[in-house]
Amino acid sequence: MVTIDRVASMGAAADGIRRDGRRIAFVPTMGYLHEGHLSLMRIARGLADVLVVSVFVNPSQFGRGEDFASYPRDIARDSSLAERAGADVIFVPEAGDMYPAGHATLVDVGPIATVLEGKSRPGHFGGVATVVAKLFNIVKPHVAVFGQKDAQQVAVIRRMAADLDFGVEIVTGPTVREPDGLAMSSRNVYLSPAERAQAPAIRRSLDAAVSAAGGGERDCAKIVALMRAVIAAQPSAAIDYVSVADAGTLQELTSLARGSRALVSLAVRIGATRLIDNDIITVD
Ligand code: AMP
Repeated sequence: MVTIDRVASMGAAADGIRRDGRRIAFVPTMGYLHEGHLSLMRIARGLADVLVVSVFVNPSQFGRGEDFASYPRDIARDSSLAERAGADVIFVPEAGDMYPAGHATLVDVGPIATVLEGKSRPGHFGGVATVVAKLFNIVKPHVAVFGQKDAQQVAVIRRMAADLDFGVEIVTGPTVREPDGLAMSSRNVYLSPAERAQAPAIRRSLDAAVSAAGGGERDCAKIVALMRAVIAAQPSAAIDYVSVADAGTLQELTSLARGSRALVSLAVRIGATRLIDNDIITVD
């Protein structure tokens, strides 16, 4: 595996790989890699000849007062994990090289970027879409793999890739969880032992929604109330949002119509740590 830390060098390497007629798969990350990231790398590994993994804690997708400065970083550990997962190139650009003085362009993906996470974290998806657009132009992948854990992010990237004709195939990998159901996240390291013990309630609230819908509940307000009750029973948890939305448009649903696909999602603060998770309900 080679490490590339300059934007221009990564671009030149990608050009060379493409000139040789080889396919590039890409997994962008913010590092502090866990099994969720590694599962995406294994999927990507099987889809192309060369696997490029990026590690870049993108400042422009963090809001004021969010955890950019404290976000966990360990590039030595990330390098060895990525190599073991089959990465051929790890791309670790500097912020100053990604955003040189005068950088001003922002990619706005429209309405799907302003609900849910976009509403709670104004500007977040502008930062995400812009950095992913830049990374696509630098790494020039044929296929890029993203996690279902960040379902809205996948929807935003798919929209952007289609609207701006990137010609990159977008593949989604399933959410990888701890044995107790907590979705793996680099932010889980922030949790104290008492908070960590409460965090699996997030998954349980999704289970409550799925089983209520499976039992015939069609009223989304009732499903949201069930989910809220699971979270409210945790002393350190504060709900940011709980949502049942159309899985395509991400607009809130009032009822689960026949044939609908709903994205059930929530954001919860456990102590000072903000965690998100989601599931899909399909109604036959
Ligand atoms: P991040 O480093 O948090 O920006 O995540 C990089 C990629 O890994 C994104 O596509 C995430 O959706 C994905 N990812 C993060 N956590 C998980 C997980 N638990 N399971 C699957 N994919 C994940």
